[in-house]
Amino acid sequence: MQIPAAFDYVRAESVGNVLDLLERHGPEARVVAGGHSLLPMMKLRLARPDCLIDINGLAELDFVVEEPGVLRVGALTRHATLLDSALVGRLFPIVHDAERVIADPLVRNRGTIGGSLCQADPAEDLTTVCDVLRADVLITGPAGQRAVPLAEFHRGPYESACEQSELVTEIRFPVVPRSSSAYEKVERRVGDWAVAAAGAAVTLAEDGTVADACIGLTALGLEGVATEAAASLVGRPPSEQAVTEAGRLAAEASDPTEDQRGPVDYKRHLADELTRRVLRRAVQRASTGS
Ligand SMILES: Cc1cc2nc3c(=O)[nH]c(=O)nc-3n(C[C@H](O)[C@H](O)[C@H](O)COP(=O)(O)OP(=O)(O)OC[C@H]3O[C@@H](n4cnc5c(N)ncnc54)[C@H](O)[C@@H]3O)c2cc1C
Repeated sequence: MQIPAAFDYVRAESVGNVLDLLERHGPEARVVAGGHSLLPMMKLRLARPDCLIDINGLAELDFVVEEPGVLRVGALTRHATLLDSALVGRLFPIVHDAERVIADPLVRNRGTIGGSLCQADPAEDLTTVCDVLRADVLITGPAGQRAVPLAEFHRGPYESACEQSELVTEIRFPVVPRSSSAYEKVERRVGDWAVAAAGAAVTLAEDGTVADACIGLTALGLEGVATEAAASLVGRPPSEQAVTEAGRLAAEASDPTEDQRGPVDYKRHLADELTRRVLRRAVQRASTGS
């Protein structure tokens, strides 16, 4: 099925206007941002909205701003904008690591961070990135605005805390001194979804030990982050032994399923190997400030 069912289309003029339109058109209305997840689903008739509310004209949702202790990113910020942003790369190199391997330039030119998180695809790369950076998602609705930690934003595959009447407007990333991050993905071919991927964020204490760590896995059946693996690093020097142990614990926490992208043993091996790689890189970046 390559042609979507008939739908109405309306171009929103402001966030307030989106909320009015969502209320007016009811439960069968859907917001469209980049359209790179929603439109394929409509063509396959996996989604059949009666009305699309286009938010692409909302410049107020397209921004990257650093404020004391936080990087604010508008929900309509494109993958390509994140990848081009020197500020994003300096504060959170994990975002650039991930964006380089998300799809291809065509998708990256249109797809948005808000759409990626709302799609809640278990193989989606920015979810792991936002998870390990402990980002908050700002949701605006008829009752006002609320901040939801990414850890609570996803309610399962393709389900999020953003209700039908609401709009994701912003993602907030805490900026923590002496911290850095990294992401690595294995894909079958360039631009494909992950066979498996891992992300890590690390904060070093002044004496060089690990003050804080967070590890996430993509497409590996892990709900949330690998808490035990991250905790095993805290208070220790980030030695090869500590990194190896964390890799092993992350692999144990993963719960991959066999599919066309590979068998369980291979994916669990990737969980271990990729966790070790991103931890080494995050530590190296945090210690050199690069
Ligand atoms: C060929 C191809 C390859 C891809 N490969 C990858 C990959 O390797 N890794 C990866 O992570 N992603 C990949 N993607 C997905 C891509 O990143 C999409 O851009 C992303 O998933 C959805 O973003 P979007 O802006 O296009 O969202 P849309 O398709 O416009 O919307 C997706 C969903 O989010 C909702 N939504 C959108 N914005 C908001 C908002 N602000 N508030 C509330 N709800 C909202 C929509 O109603 C819809 O339900 C790929 C896509 C394609 C087509």
